[in-house]
Amino acid sequence: MSGAPPENSPRVVILGAGFGGIAAARALASVPVHTTIVDRNYYNTFQPLLYQVATGGLNAGDVAYPVRNLLRRRHALDFRWGTVERVDADKRAVFLGDGTELRYDFLIIATGATINYFGVPGAAEHAQAIYTLDDALAVRRRMFEQFEHAVSAGGEGGVLNVVIVGGGPTGVEMAGALAELRTLILDSSYPSLDPQMGSVLLVEQKEALLGGFEGPLAAYAQRELTRRGVEVRLSTAVREVSAGGLTINSGEEASTFLPAGLVVWAAGVAASSVAASSELALTAHGRIEVGPNLAIPGRPEVFAIGDVAATPAPGGGHPLAQLAQPAIQGGHHAAREISAALSGAQPTPFSYKDKGIMATIGRRSAVAEIALPATRRLLPLRGTPAWFAWLGLHIYFLLGGRNRAAVLLNWAWRYVSWRRGPRVIVGG
Ligand SMILES: Cc1cc2nc3c(=O)[nH]c(=O)nc-3n(C[C@H](O)[C@H](O)[C@H](O)COP(=O)(O)OP(=O)(O)OC[C@H]3O[C@@H](n4cnc5c(N)ncnc54)[C@H](O)[C@@H]3O)c2cc1C
Repeated sequence: MSGAPPENSPRVVILGAGFGGIAAARALASVPVHTTIVDRNYYNTFQPLLYQVATGGLNAGDVAYPVRNLLRRRHALDFRWGTVERVDADKRAVFLGDGTELRYDFLIIATGATINYFGVPGAAEHAQAIYTLDDALAVRRRMFEQFEHAVSAGGEGGVLNVVIVGGGPTGVEMAGALAELRTLILDSSYPSLDPQMGSVLLVEQKEALLGGFEGPLAAYAQRELTRRGVEVRLSTAVREVSAGGLTINSGEEASTFLPAGLVVWAAGVAASSVAASSELALTAHGRIEVGPNLAIPGRPEVFAIGDVAATPAPGGGHPLAQLAQPAIQGGHHAAREISAALSGAQPTPFSYKDKGIMATIGRRSAVAEIALPATRRLLPLRGTPAWFAWLGLHIYFLLGGRNRAAVLLNWAWRYVSWRRGPRVIVGG
């Protein structure tokens, strides 16, 4: 809408400026409400490309976009920088860490997920998560510092071992990028180091990588990783992580200690702490329970969307996976429901449209299951076609024209020159 809505218009508060929160805010721009979006960061992070930042392929600014820039020319949208402590649904109020109380008529909770260490001893202290921009920069800094230490130590082995825990899309993408990085960077920038002296190991508790993808695609991903020098260990559980490595065991075997310079934790996520602190009904996995239209049962004015919510899947069963599309579509739906409620219409159940899933392994290698619009059947793709589909989609979904151009140029240059992108050692 062009002008500001009347002063006494309903107030909508959105918690979280991620995929879901931004989608909801954009959709609400055409509804006569005042919207405030709250986030502990003043930028939106494009999480699917964090591993590229971690491995030096992209800069932090390429995957982050200031929330205020998204609100330009949208008069009834405010941004509030702050950490949400809890929601008091009886009082229709949100409490921030600095003591601020925000009142709402409608609330959309979209605070996403946080890392889950599944109670593995030492994991929170010694493994490096890859969930936020700071995490990605920390991984990058530690890796390049290790290369430098190895050069200073005259190329002694061991320190370059990297173990990635979790064989889902994030773990697979991280492993593929690390294998590529090792080939490219060691060759061009650290010629005194032997690329064979370090290793990239991917550990997965289940019997196959990429749960959720069809078997042949998961097997292809494993073959490609192995061909690129990644050691893949399936049916292997991590028992403990310590300063110098991690202890694993598989099946009947006794526990083995593996020395590692860096352990990257990509094993799974749990719902954001806002879910637990707000006295709302949660599922066994800590996600907020929602009804068919994504409103919380008994609270038609409160919606929960994206990773924080147990969004119902079409046909029932497990809630939808914690992925970008359920969050985006959930954001649009919550906005539509608020608009409908204001005009007195009945709630409409959320209907998820599966657009497919994809994961990249490295240059010209990816796997994808893409929903065909006419039939909604999933088309399996792998290799170069899947990689181009992955490339196009990720650039399309990046927020902001500058980010898209920067990523496109960066990748195009790397593709042509076959060199790694920016690799400044930064991050605390
Ligand atoms: C490394 C990685 C790779 C991924 N790759 C893919 C992929 O390839 N494809 C895919 O579909 N999905 C991928 N995902 C998952 C996808 O990013 C999430 O499903 C999606 O971001 C969920 O959207 P959301 O809006 O629910 O939460 P988010 O996008 O996580 O947004 C939550 C927002 O809430 C804010 N927030 C949280 N707690 C508070 C608080 N207490 N106070 C204030 N603000 C708060 C956060 O700062 C964040 O901005 C990946 C995730 C990760 C971590």
